[in-house]
Amino acid sequence: MALPWSRSFWAEEPMKFIDSHFHTQSMLQRGMDVFSMYDRLFENDFGGGIDIGCVHDDLPERVRLLKPYPQILLSAAMGPWEAGASEAKGADPDFEYSEIKSTEQILKELAELKRNIETYRPAFIGEIGLDYYWDYGTHEKQKLIFETQMKWADEKGLCVLIHDRDADEDVIDAIKRLGPSKGGVIHCFDGCRNLMETALEMGYYISFAGNLTYKRNTELRSLIREVPSDRLLLETDSPYLTPVPLRGKPNCPEYIINTYNCAAELLGTDVNELAETIAENFSSLCSR
Ligand SMILES: [Zn+2]
Repeated sequence: MALPWSRSFWAEEPMKFIDSHFHTQSMLQRGMDVFSMYDRLFENDFGGGIDIGCVHDDLPERVRLLKPYPQILLSAAMGPWEAGASEAKGADPDFEYSEIKSTEQILKELAELKRNIETYRPAFIGEIGLDYYWDYGTHEKQKLIFETQMKWADEKGLCVLIHDRDADEDVIDAIKRLGPSKGGVIHCFDGCRNLMETALEMGYYISFAGNLTYKRNTELRSLIREVPSDRLLLETDSPYLTPVPLRGKPNCPEYIINTYNCAAELLGTDVNELAETIAENFSSLCSR
């Protein structure tokens, strides 16, 4: 199938398509030719987005890699995986932690991340959150990492990008208690109505990923209609969660068009109009 990033495809009025969440380093680790793709996309209708931080020490290298692309903003964070291996579930193949991490080690890494944030000043704190699917470390260690960064975001006046997997209740509780005052984004929203309602009340955006295109996700596909149009974002979470009809390939920002098409269809709107709305939402998020 054609991947329509050329201006001609988008008729008279070319729009800028934003991907609010992707991982350049993880794509590079999979051997993907990421920079040729970015060059090609930026010559067409790609509007950029956020390259997401995962671990305490990835920011300096990402700043260097993405310097030629001012349209790509950076976030930085320790994700829940930095709580280390789970004794109960074993190691997640996407992260190297086969060992249990001590709280002392976690605090040292938080301190290194804080130094990096103060030196390089990323635009967002994320992705942070809780993941009880992989059950990294312990819930206490995950909460220590998550809540420390929620407090920093509030102190520094930054938005957060939240990862939640099988931890809805505890994420809702943290958002209610800790804000932060600038809000943030629920990334890769998975269809929990309570989380959506709390997040919207607390001033968050809701970001839908490639799993919106999976027909069996009926609840998720119906909830997109309940998100106010000025709080909606779309993302790839590349290289994960490849949208239909490209499942099986590693995901990349180029494929975001499939999620835009799917969202436009579910919302009964024109895809170019949707792209315009999302671009406005993204720019409001960036100017908070
Ligand atoms: Zn991600």
